[in-house]
Parts: sequence; structure tokens; C-alpha cells
Amino acid sequence: MGYLVLTRKYRPQNFDEVLGQPHVTKTLMSALAKGRVGHSYLFSGPRGVGKTSVARILAKAVNCKKGIAENPCNECENCIAITNCNSVDVMEIDGASNRGIDEIRALREGVSYSPVQSAFKVYIIDEVHMLTKEAFNALLKTLEEPPSHVIFIFATTEPQKVPKTVLSRCQRFDFRILSNKEIFDKLKELIKLEKIKATDEALSLISSRAEGAIRDAEGMLEQLISYSEGEITGDDVRDVFGFIGNKLYLELFNGIKSSEGEEIIRCVEEIAVKGYDLREFTSGWLKFLRSLLLCKLGIEDITSTVSRDALVKISEDVSTEFITAVLNLSVDLEKDIRLIPYSPVYLELAMLRMSKIPALRDINTLIKNISNETLLKENPQEEKKERKPENDKLVIKAPENAQELWNAIITKVNGSTGKNFLKAFLKDAEPVSFEDNILRIKVPSTHKKHLDEDIHFLRGALKETTGEDIDIEIITYQQKIEPKLSDNSMVTKVKEIFNAEEFI
Ligand SMILES: [Zn+2]
Repeated sequence: MGYLVLTRKYRPQNFDEVLGQPHVTKTLMSALAKGRVGHSYLFSGPRGVGKTSVARILAKAVNCKKGIAENPCNECENCIAITNCNSVDVMEIDGASNRGIDEIRALREGVSYSPVQSAFKVYIIDEVHMLTKEAFNALLKTLEEPPSHVIFIFATTEPQKVPKTVLSRCQRFDFRILSNKEIFDKLKELIKLEKIKATDEALSLISSRAEGAIRDAEGMLEQLISYSEGEITGDDVRDVFGFIGNKLYLELFNGIKSSEGEEIIRCVEEIAVKGYDLREFTSGWLKFLRSLLLCKLGIEDITSTVSRDALVKISEDVSTEFITAVLNLSVDLEKDIRLIPYSPVYLELAMLRMSKIPALRDINTLIKNISNETLLKENPQEEKKERKPENDKLVIKAPENAQELWNAIITKVNGSTGKNFLKAFLKDAEPVSFEDNILRIKVPSTHKKHLDEDIHFLRGALKETTGEDIDIEIITYQQKIEPKLSDNSMVTKVKEIFNAEEFI
């Protein structure tokens, strides 16, 4: 028995065995069952998802000695010859290495001869988008008037590079990327057939690394079988394929959620020192965050390479909003890293930026705060009554002292250089009260965002003035704007332009 690699050994031999492409196989089977055979097909989709396998099954199904049927018999001489890649009537051509006009001319000559032992001559051209413009033009002539005994099956990972004139003459089938779960289940089946032991973690790591391509997953499994003695473990997968450990992702997330710049810098240094590919790092980081988010939402994720316990532990004191915010910034990071893949400094910056995401409160707390605020606006006295001082030592009594304090801050801020926006916004702010070491100020709602941004600056000014740690609470109100319609210069202008009159 010759050595047969897994990919070849378990290549699907009929449409039912094809993994994850039912939208393609069902359509082809139903056409074949009705005896309908096209003359040119285009199979597009990512690499390693079964395009050439389906092309070969189709070649067998049309040439099977038992006649055209949903599936080939896989027993007759024609089927066997195609399976073994030695049928004289089925040609597999690699578009990347036979891309020129001469190759296509030779192909066209061959097309005119009748098949030797089958009903159809089948040309399977892989990576067809690699053909030159001239080669496509030559091919097009054959496609326009194909001999009845010829079938073309084109496969491509980049259909957008195939000329429209060619596309329009083909029946097009789009193959989809396989899910981690589909690949995981397939691997599970394979190890059972091969009587190999592998942990779920190992299979899950392989599935995740294969990125939707079953062929890659099978190739990795093959490599691991020769590498490991006994059971294949997650560590084996990491050793062979240089996986960036989840430990690093966990440490990095910890650094971000607790805003520990030093820890983040240390992690990025480790990534750089160990020579990890930054693109690979960020793509793994996205997967890690996704697993974290699913865990937080209580959704089972069997493809996660991090243990559920670790995910639960690290996410217990953060909100889904926080994880989503980190995930959002990381998606941008991934895009940028693709352009500058050798810049750990950029990675560091991006991670530090993430650590500045304020610990977002969960939505329930937010709703509670909003309703409290509304209550307060409607009945400010009530809030005052409810609030009991935590200690008896009130620094200064409200509200006249609030004004005093406020004046002190304004002087301080106005005396400082820069902060011109803040100075402008403070003009509209008014002190309301000062108690329990909290100075409350009232501002138009439009100013809140800007003041929030500089709140630490205001606190610093208070600390410098009083020597105390005084907090600032910002209360907002809607500015009343009641313009008289006719006084409004914009309205006047509109009236002028449209020669209109008011009806109010
Ligand atoms: Zn057959």
C-alpha cells in the first residue's frame, strides 16, 4: 500500500460527501438527475473548500459508464480513471502556470477532437483568473461555440478578475468558507476513521487556524500525526504551528481592562521578542475577543481555544459593551496592521488606546442613572433629602460656598494657558451646591461632553485651591431657545430666496 495523504484519502467521491456546500451540490445533482449538462461552469470561492473536488465529481458524473445520474458510480473504469487522475478525457490545467496564449491555443486544438473513452472531454482549469488577456480572448472563441462533447469547469479564488465576457457564458457556483464547527466535526470523523487520538482542544485549534479551508485542516492534522507520539494535544498544535499562546491574550486583556500601561507594553514587547507575525497576532486577538464576547453573552463556543473557565473569570468584571468597544478598535487595528505588519509600536499604541476606553457600565446601570437624573431634574429637593452625608465633616456649607469655590476654579482656569474651549464652556456653567465633598455645577446639555473631557483638569484646579479631593458632578439642562420666527435671519433669508410668505 502506497502512502496516501489524508487529503487525498478522504477526498469526497460523490456529491453527498462534499462538506458544507449543499447549495452547490444540490443544484448540480438535480440538473444531472434531469440529464441537463452545461458546457461551462465557474466555481468560485476561497481556497481549500472543495472546488476541484466538486469539479472531479462532476466530470465523473457526466462520464460514468452507468449513464448520467445524480452521483457517479465510482466503480466503472471511467470513474476509477478520473479518481486516479489518469483519464485521457479529463484534463486538469493549472491556470497559474499555463496562462499564456500558446497554452490556450494548444487547448483549443485538443478541444476539436472527440473524447476517447467517455461521453465528454472535460477541461478543469484551476485558478483561471491567472490567464492572460490574450489567453482569455482565445478561450472565449471556444466558449462562444463549444463542441457538444466539451465541458469546461473553471475554478477561481478571484472571480472579479475573470472577464465579464467569460463569466456571462458560465453557470456560476459560489463556494462558501467553511465554519470552524464544520471543520471540527470533519476532523473528529477523520481521527475516528484513522484510529488516531487527539484532544478536542487540539482539533479546535486546528479548525480555527485553518480559516475555513478543510484542505488546510487536513494537511495540519497530517503533519501532527507524524509529529506527536500518542495523543495529539493542544500543546502539540502550538509547538508545530507556532501559535501565539492564549496566556498572552489573557494578560493583554487584563492590562487593557485595568488600564495598566506597563503590562500592555510588556506584552507587546514579548510579542516582538518572540518574533510573532503581527498580522497573525491580531487575527488571533480578534478570535480571542470574539470567544470572550460569546462567553459573556452565555453562548457556547466550541471552537474557542481558550478554556471557558478562563474566559468566565476574565470577563466577570467587565460589561459586554466594554468587550464590544475593544473589539471595535481591534477590527480597525487588524486593518491597519495588514498595511504596516512590522510595527510593534503601532500595536502598542492601539492597545494603549484600548486601555483608555472608560470602563463602560452595563446598560441597566445606565438606564438607572438616566432615570435618576430625570427625577432629579423634576424634583431636585428630593435627591437632596435622600442623600445622607457619609461623614459628618462637611468642608464648606452650600450653596454660597459653592459660588466661592466656583469663583476660585474659574480664576485658576482662566489664569492657566491654553484650555480656551474649556474657558469658553465654563462661562455658561453655574454652581448649584457643595456638600459631601461634591461640587455640583449646572451646564447646558450641549456642554456636558466637553466638560467631561476636562473634568480631571477641573478637579486638579480644585485640589490646588483647597488642598482637598473634591469631586465635581455635572448636571445638565436643556437651553430654552424660543426664536420668533420672523426675527430669525435664516427665515428671512429663506423667504427672500423662495419669495415666500409666512402663514403663522
Ligand atoms: Zn461510473
